[in-house]
Amino acid sequence: MKKVIPILAGRAAAPRFAGGPLADTRGRPMRDLRISVTDRCNFRCVYCMPREVFDSSYRFLPHSAILSFEEIARLAGIFVDLGVKKIRLTGGEPLVRRDLPRLVQMLSSLGAELTLTTNGSLLAKHAAALADAGLDRVTVSLDSLDDATFRAMNDADFPVARVLEGIEAAVAAGLSPVKINMVVKRGTNDADLVAMAERWRGTGHIVRFIEFMDVGATNGWRMDDVVPSAEVIKRINQVWALEPIDPNYPGEVAERWRYADGAGEIGVISSVTQAFCSSCNRMRLSTEGSLFTCLFAQSGHDLKTLLRAGASDEALRDEIAAVWQGRTDRYSEIRTLETAKRPKVEMSYIGG
Ligand code: SAM
Repeated sequence: MKKVIPILAGRAAAPRFAGGPLADTRGRPMRDLRISVTDRCNFRCVYCMPREVFDSSYRFLPHSAILSFEEIARLAGIFVDLGVKKIRLTGGEPLVRRDLPRLVQMLSSLGAELTLTTNGSLLAKHAAALADAGLDRVTVSLDSLDDATFRAMNDADFPVARVLEGIEAAVAAGLSPVKINMVVKRGTNDADLVAMAERWRGTGHIVRFIEFMDVGATNGWRMDDVVPSAEVIKRINQVWALEPIDPNYPGEVAERWRYADGAGEIGVISSVTQAFCSSCNRMRLSTEGSLFTCLFAQSGHDLKTLLRAGASDEALRDEIAAVWQGRTDRYSEIRTLETAKRPKVEMSYIGG
């Protein structure tokens, strides 16, 4: 992947960030930070890390290239100083990174909400330690309750039952309410979406139905495979009446709907059919320390070189601020069949 030279190198430093909301060229504040702690995963979900590409010859990042917990924690502190309110650990599969609770503990004192997105496969083992270390909440990806469909989608023959055990362990550890993410792919698992809604109705946990996105360049994305969120809502509404509710905060990714009978809420994430670029407040820090201001980016801004060259907190803060302030992207608003073919960075690398 192309590396972009640190943007302050070789020219006068941008004005120091002086507090207050940090805004990009479209006035979007930087509120959320997603940190990818590994580019590796123990699943090979067909829409994310297809086995034909991520096979035994695929070259994942060597350990020396990935940020250490100390480096991540230092940068996270600077992000919080710059106004970040929520940090999400992701990947790859974050729980395959050894000793993750240690990182959680290092981040837990920063004052930001701390969450984790996981495929749930190792959650039963780690939920208590993560909660003890200070994790606030967890999002578990689960694409079907039908075991055969789920095993085929994760392409690792991993059973649904063990993800459900992971969710139970998270609840027992106090990481509630759990969010459950289901990527809906037409003809693959869309027949299961009502069953998924039914399973979590009345539990206090929140299922979010995600449109299949053209992230990366390897998942063979086609518009025909996308089930628009409007259709998801229509299909669930035919069984239990739904009504829209306000976002919890400006820029929330999921659009919220509640059951009219009071049995809780669901969410839909409609990156393809209802672009939410105008309120996107997310910065991403990749496994090897590059900044990405868009999930659909083709390249990032290398922060690690500056970090490892001994830069001060102030220099790192200025660099991060300048990247955000120079941000212009709005990929989902300009998506076409042509842009979908661009060589974009893989989601497992950039952090989902
Ligand atoms: N391994 C963790 C997990 O499974 O949740 C974290 C990383 S994963 C890349 C984060 C989320 O991105 C998961 O919910 C996954 O289903 C979703 N995802 C991956 N590829 C996607 C795609 N092409 N379209 C929509 N969502 C996708």
